[in-house]
Amino acid sequence: LIVLEVKNLNKTYPNGKERIQALKNINLKVEKGEIYGIIGLSGAGKSTLIRTLNLLEPPDSGTVEIDGKNIVKFKEKELREIRREIGMIFQNFNLLSSLTVYENVELPLKIAKKKDRKDRVMDLLKLVGLEEKAESYPSQLSGGQKQRVGIARALANNPKILLCDEPTSALDPVTTKSILNLLKEINQKFSLTTVIITHDMGVIKNLCHKVAVISGGELVEKGEVFEVF
Ligand code: ADP
Ligand code: ADP
Repeated sequence: LIVLEVKNLNKTYPNGKERIQALKNINLKVEKGEIYGIIGLSGAGKSTLIRTLNLLEPPDSGTVEIDGKNIVKFKEKELREIRREIGMIFQNFNLLSSLTVYENVELPLKIAKKKDRKDRVMDLLKLVGLEEKAESYPSQLSGGQKQRVGIARALANNPKILLCDEPTSALDPVTTKSILNLLKEINQKFSLTTVIITHDMGVIKNLCHKVAVISGGELVEKGEVFEVF
């Protein structure tokens, strides 16, 4: 069952009088429950690709299909709805510093106008091992704890897909391992389809089922991790 399919995706940015082609004819299929890694050097197009998958960046051409529906054609209202089904975590966590851990995780539920949020938030905090930190502020947490909050927040609305943008790049090796283990556990528990971009081979080897290598905006290789490397 294919959850996410990208077909012939192209994206350019203005660059003086010319345009830079950041993505060239990208094709990608991600199946239900798979952890799909995309690895490449700085400037290869990783951020652009992951931002295009949830339409934070509109592509110049091509399609992004979620459960067979091309979201590139979606209008604002439909996009807002589909984005609720796409959880995202970030290299720098992107927590709101003026909100507590609890409030950060609650926010997507509030925005979705969900009622009876307390049990859900506490279940999420339990899942990531941070029940004790509910009333703390992000500045009082370690990097790994901040990313755990980011993960809990990303899962709040029960997404179909989790997009991870360099989720361990700001973390030390031991913390990286623990975050990768948590992502693995969540993937197994919920069969959560996961796409992760990284420049770190360790992330691919420790976490991913499949991998695509991006270089100069193109996917130059893709397949099972053991086949590609
Ligand atoms: P990566 O995440 O792999 O480092 P990016 O997707 O950030 O790569 O960048 C791919 C290419 O697109 C690079 O050449 C970068 O300079 C260019 N680029 C990215 N974002 C923009 C932008 N907003 N405007 C112009 N060029 C951009
Ligand atoms: P990352 O470390 O996530 O790859 P980048 O440093 O590539 O981040 O990009 C950070 C932000 O700057 C992104 O929003 C990207 O779109 C933008 N950006 C990257 N390259 C350029 C560029 N050449 N011109 C304008 N914006 C850029």
